[in-house]
Amino acid sequence: MAKIIQLSPHIANLIAAGEVVERPASVVKELLENAVDAGATQVTVELRDGGMTFIRVTDNGCGMQAEDARTAFLRHATSKLRAAEDLAAISTMGFRGEALAAIASVSRIDLLTKTPGSVCGTSISLEAGNITDETEAGCPDGTTIIVRDLFFNTPARMKFMKTDSYEAGKVADTVQLQALAHPEVAFRFLRDGKEVLSTPGSGNLQDAAYSIYGRESSRMVAVDSTWENCRLTGFVCKPSDARPSRSRQVFFVNGRPVRSALLIKALEEAYRNQIMVGKFPACVLHLTVPANAVDVNVHPAKTEVKFLQEKVVFDCVHYGVLGALNKAPDRPEMAFKPAAHPVSAPAPAPVKSESKPFFRTMTAKEYQSFSAAVKSAPQPKPAAATAVVSAINERRDSLPIQETIQLPKPLEKAAIPPAPMIPEPQQQALEIPEEIPWRMVGELYNSYILVQQGEDAFFIDKHAAHERILFEKLKANQEAISSQALLTPIPCQLTPSSIAVLTEHRALLEELGFEIDEFGENTLLLRQIPMDLSPEDAADAMDALASDLQSGRCEDKSSMRDEILHTVACKAAIKAGWRTSEEELLALVKQVMETEDLKHCPHGRPICILLSKKQLEKQFKRT
Ligand code: ADP
Ligand code: MG
Repeated sequence: MAKIIQLSPHIANLIAAGEVVERPASVVKELLENAVDAGATQVTVELRDGGMTFIRVTDNGCGMQAEDARTAFLRHATSKLRAAEDLAAISTMGFRGEALAAIASVSRIDLLTKTPGSVCGTSISLEAGNITDETEAGCPDGTTIIVRDLFFNTPARMKFMKTDSYEAGKVADTVQLQALAHPEVAFRFLRDGKEVLSTPGSGNLQDAAYSIYGRESSRMVAVDSTWENCRLTGFVCKPSDARPSRSRQVFFVNGRPVRSALLIKALEEAYRNQIMVGKFPACVLHLTVPANAVDVNVHPAKTEVKFLQEKVVFDCVHYGVLGALNKAPDRPEMAFKPAAHPVSAPAPAPVKSESKPFFRTMTAKEYQSFSAAVKSAPQPKPAAATAVVSAINERRDSLPIQETIQLPKPLEKAAIPPAPMIPEPQQQALEIPEEIPWRMVGELYNSYILVQQGEDAFFIDKHAAHERILFEKLKANQEAISSQALLTPIPCQLTPSSIAVLTEHRALLEELGFEIDEFGENTLLLRQIPMDLSPEDAADAMDALASDLQSGRCEDKSSMRDEILHTVACKAAIKAGWRTSEEELLALVKQVMETEDLKHCPHGRPICILLSKKQLEKQFKRT
């Protein structure tokens, strides 16, 4: 049998580093927390090369004495936890005394620190956790830590690092989180010498949020409520400003950023029936609970929490947000409006009138004749998608439909010479032959179409059905997606890491019809978008794509293309709750009833649900 040996402190630190120090952003997170714990009111983060070669965090906090500075880098060295009794209370803050030791073990560190009372400060250098140099040094009160050459001695870990802009984006996310966690601290973040974030440190959450999100933050609704021994403060978005991903949901528990399925659920429950499927509320919420009612040490990086009284926490968030939303003006009418533009720039497209029912990209007639043409044309047909595009174009120009749409002729008709100059009247396509076996009964809730066929009743989700049909059509077109140049570029407010992941895939996005430009740390400019995407939906589409890319759901080109097509189709499809003309509904029903394999929308929701006469009779106790 092999002999059991105890791991050396260095190896133990490396293992801990694997848990705590995942990438530059995790280093910055730990250093920022320490600066805040040290009572700093001003904290500056500087980064070079995405943080891999150089991270510097400077604070004006309490500093350390020479001896403490040395001890700080030992494992389980902490000034914040002395006895086991402290554990319950202090575990709230996640003090483990592990961070500095872990960071030091995988980098080269220079520390410069001075307490306000002492005449001179201390300078310490470490390499892979070992002190290589220590001297007295003249320096201002507070602490400066420089972390160089991260993972220089753990090449395996280094391999997991992504591009500098990706890593820098993650760091920016981290700084933003800390700034929202501590509005009383003025944070500055400089990347390669350029300032990309600066908060005033006024102590007011709204000021911090404004520095980060800009004007968008002033559209949010304030939350301030107490529930038993929990307090909830912060901001939530109005239902109409819901976003296509959860990237803007920020929660703090006792001042620490956390991830918690419970908190997300409580938040989203407050928005139930107020926002559409696939949309998510945004928030910056601070929850304050008694220190011994929460455990943040579930995860070594301290981002996951466990609550002792889950029900109380849930209710606190749920009712707190619900109450704030109820008080907020203009709630009911907003649910089905397209999302407003995040930044002050004027909406680049004309606002559509509610009075005219329409398919977002085609009228029922256009749609009907188009689908008739598609059905009878040979497969696959790039021309089909071209027809969608030209139909949309023409519609935008609002010329008479008959003169502008160039639809592929059905085969048998194309054979009959001479081809008419003008396509036949559209009514022809709408005529439904006698032998059609189904009957459209009507529409429920402006959402579901009721159809009877023999002994069966079908409920068709009109949005899901239209979305699927558009998706299939776009997908059938194998050509590059054609794009429209925008006169006014569309600004998209996104998190830095979203922007980083999108710019990383710039070439691919271009092939798919998007031209993007970085514009500051939080804004991306869209100069060109796919032809079929309406400008109002473009910012949302970017957000959705970024979150898909980040989650790794679409790594390769074809799945990303599919994702874009999903988004385009989803945005272009008629929505539940909209008024739709009978002709349009009929055109949809025809497609659904005649295409066996139209079962689910591109997101997997069912398109059509069946209710048999037998089932219904059973309900009425007739059988
Ligand atoms: P923890 O924060 O869990 O105590 P760390 O390894 O992050 O563990 O830090 C170890 C100790 O070093 C802290 O408890 C604190 O006393 C000291 N320290 C770290 N950073 C600073 C700082 N910026 N200013 C003053 N003291 C610091
Ligand atoms: Mg710490």
